Amino acid sequence: MAAKATAERILELSQNYAKIAARVTAAATKHNRNPNHIKILPVSKWKPASDIQALYDNDNLRHFGENYAQELVEKAQVLPEDIQWHFIGALQSNKIKDVAGKVKNLYSVESLSEEKKIKKLNDSRQPNWPKVNVFLQINTSSEEQKSGLSYDDKEGVLKQVEFITNQCENLIFKGFMTIGSIEQSKRSDSEENQDFKRLVELKQWLAEQLKLANQDDIELSMGMSSDFEEAIRQGTSYVRIGTNIFGARDYSGKK
Ligand SMILES: *Cc1c(COP(=O)(O)O)cnc(C)c1O
Repeated sequence: MAAKATAERILELSQNYAKIAARVTAAATKHNRNPNHIKILPVSKWKPASDIQALYDNDNLRHFGENYAQELVEKAQVLPEDIQWHFIGALQSNKIKDVAGKVKNLYSVESLSEEKKIKKLNDSRQPNWPKVNVFLQINTSSEEQKSGLSYDDKEGVLKQVEFITNQCENLIFKGFMTIGSIEQSKRSDSEENQDFKRLVELKQWLAEQLKLANQDDIELSMGMSSDFEEAIRQGTSYVRIGTNIFGARDYSGKK
């Protein structure tokens, strides 16, 4: 069991979440999208398990995103087993086993792109456990420090999708994730975020290659606290929200 948050904190989290949910609905309506097709992923990295428990109890949230392997493993041990965890951070090869092998209720990994690591994720998963959904991370901004497959390496992307689909019995290909550049996220309302646009184009291209009747079978995870409304406008399935729900993260004492 996780410790309990204070009444004040519980109220604050619920109010923050309600505000975001209202903004998501408003953005969806404004851009002629069904609000039910947009999922909010609260990103709880560096925040205590009691915060997650509060949103679980009071707002019935079940999906949460974490960035660090050890932090996810520790939280998963003390929090309810029906939470659906999304791993969205950089994942070192030697941590894959922990994430896949210790967190039975791991719903997805959104931050892999290399075949070796994808294979390790698949091989580390117990066959009788729920399969893990994979969002391939795509580098849409061509920034060197960003990980992911380059958005213009279409054949490389297709190769990984086929690898997951045909050779990874414990994984399910779900879609694409991108972070995008800060520069693009700061653009004004009237300007399109080019990174998000590239991810949408990649999805459309893949849907054609796979001859999908419904291209929305490929899901997108893009948009964070500062740019989620633009991501909704462009067609995202998930928005990943940390700061706007949990407040600023305390970077002191972190590497
Ligand atoms: C931290 C993080 C988020 C949430 O960012 P906020 O700006 O706090 O909403 C989303 N996605 C990834 C990959 C992150 O690491």
